[in-house]
Order: sequence, then C-alpha cells, then structure tokens
Amino acid sequence: MDCLFCGIIEGKIPSDKLYEDDGILIFKDIAPEAPFHALAILKGAPHLESVASLAQFPERAGDVGRLFAVMAEKQAEWGLDGGFRVVANCGRDARQSVSHLHFHILGKRELSLSLS
Ligand code: 5GP
Ligand code: ZN
Repeated sequence: MDCLFCGIIEGKIPSDKLYEDDGILIFKDIAPEAPFHALAILKGAPHLESVASLAQFPERAGDVGRLFAVMAEKQAEWGLDGGFRVVANCGRDARQSVSHLHFHILGKRELSLSLS
C-alpha cells in the first residue's frame, strides 16, 4: 500500500512531530491553514481510510476516542487555550486528499465557519 501518512509513520517521509505513542501520531500540517495546524492519525493495522471506514472496523472506535483524549490533554501545551477546531474530511465531497484517517487540529486564530 502506497500511503503518504503510513510513510510518515514509518519515518520514510519526514514530519514535524508534536506527539507520538504506540498508537497515535500528531504532526504539523505541511500547508497550514492557521497558525496552529496539526494532523492527528492512528498507527497500526488495519489502515483506515476515513471516518467512514469505522463502519467496517468499529473495534477501532476506541482508538479514535483515545486520540481525542490525547488532543484534550495536549491542547493547553500547544497554546490552544483560546479554542480550536477539529475537522475530519471524509471522501470526495469533503475533498479528502489523503486516504488515511486523519483529524485536522486548527487554532491560534479566530476561525469562521466557511464550508467551501
Ligand atoms: P485532507 O485534504 O485529506 O483532509 O488533508 C490532508 C492534509 O495533509 C492537507 O492539509 C495537506 O496540507 C497535508 N499534507 C499533504 N502532504 C503532506 C506531507 O507530506 N506532510 C505533511 N506534514 N502534511 C501533508
Ligand atoms: Zn496510511
């Protein structure tokens, strides 16, 4: 499987890591849309393509929950006390461009609710 984010997990592609443990990696987005823009992903098999993949692999939902708990634990350290947004693009209509389940974490500026 040729997946950009699996390549980042494996260290084949460099990334600016903010947090890593056995099951989770959080790293800076290469093209930030806000002063703070990170991507949070799950490691390990099976590789999930998107939120919709949790229908096939509901047993991974707990890992997603833990990922959110890590975000909550780290947000103050990342300077996000003023608030932040978590976004998951899923599939074509949402213009998901990397088919490895990921959550954008955006903050350090006021965000409008533009959905274009
Ligand atoms: P999507 O559009 O799939 O929701 O988001 C994919 C994100 O991955 C984009 O925000 C894009 O900037 C980011 N991205 C694409 N390639 C790389 C890369 O090689 N390294 C990092 N750190 N981020 C990337
Ligand atoms: Zn992958």
